[in-house]
Amino acid sequence: MNKYIDGKAISSEIQETIKSKVEEYTAKGLRKPGLATLLVGNNPASQSYIRSKIKKSEYVGFNSFHKSLGEDASIEEVMKTIEEWNNSEEIDGILVQLPLPLNLAKYTNDIMLAIDPEKDVDGFHPYNIGLLVKGEPRFIPCTPRGIIELLKHEKIETTGKKAVIIGRSQIVGLPVGLLLLMKNDEYGNATVTYCHSRTKNLDEEIKQADILIAAIGKPQFVKSNMIKEGVTIIDVGINRIEDSNSKKGYRIVGDVDTEDVLPKVSRITPVPGGVGPMTITMLLENTLESYERKLSK
Ligand code: NAD
Repeated sequence: MNKYIDGKAISSEIQETIKSKVEEYTAKGLRKPGLATLLVGNNPASQSYIRSKIKKSEYVGFNSFHKSLGEDASIEEVMKTIEEWNNSEEIDGILVQLPLPLNLAKYTNDIMLAIDPEKDVDGFHPYNIGLLVKGEPRFIPCTPRGIIELLKHEKIETTGKKAVIIGRSQIVGLPVGLLLLMKNDEYGNATVTYCHSRTKNLDEEIKQADILIAAIGKPQFVKSNMIKEGVTIIDVGINRIEDSNSKKGYRIVGDVDTEDVLPKVSRITPVPGGVGPMTITMLLENTLESYERKLSK
């Protein structure tokens, strides 16, 4: 059996389903779902993420609304854009690309709060985080949702399993643990342990895992001597390491030393091609669901 979980293929499958649903809606004369993206500043990684998000959203047939503001944009300009998008009947999802430039970073929470929670397709608004904590999620942050979809697609049992998460960030570690903990036979009911930079005996915790989620941002941190035989590993990390054989001079690796752990794992997500492609696809899925919720109102 192929041990790799092919996030790229699963992601394409989901995108095709979204595309055909959009075709069905527009064939009935309904408007297209609309996704609005805001980029502030000129961080190259953010520019590249936004380009992919726009490209994919157009591919599945969404209307894409995009605005780029300069590095020195004011908080008022950002808030004005969000307000316009909150009030637009054509927009179902609003995304502000993070991180924001230095002068706006201190307003990140205010900006998340300003987005209409009904259009918060990144799932970062405190209202949506609250719903997730209550076990009644509406918009689930995209990377955690992508991880859950991979587990579901591959029929990896979570009920009663020990899930260990390394990393407690608001965008990955924390929400994915909440989802695995939820009373839900499809992807929840796990016994969840969170580990982070202050965890003592990290190796002992990791060795308990039936499902290990690595989201720390440390290249090839998890080695074969740290894991239990038969574990399923979801490697969220995206790290650049030097590689003189590559034209770019670097390559992308995860938080797990994939080659080293491969003989011992039952399943593993590759990097690249595992969780990464699922993140954008879940943004599309969240936007489509937002559109469908409006249709049913
Ligand atoms: P973050 O920096 O916000 O959080 C890192 C977490 O790891 C923290 O909770 C910290 O306590 C923990 N940590 C750091 N060093 C540790 C150590 N030595 N031992 C134990 N815990 C440690 O990172 P993030 O935003 O959650 O991202 C994590 C990784 O996932 C990064 O490589 C990032 O690029 C990647 N990422 C990938 C996607 C995707 O779509 N695949 C999406 C988001 C983030």
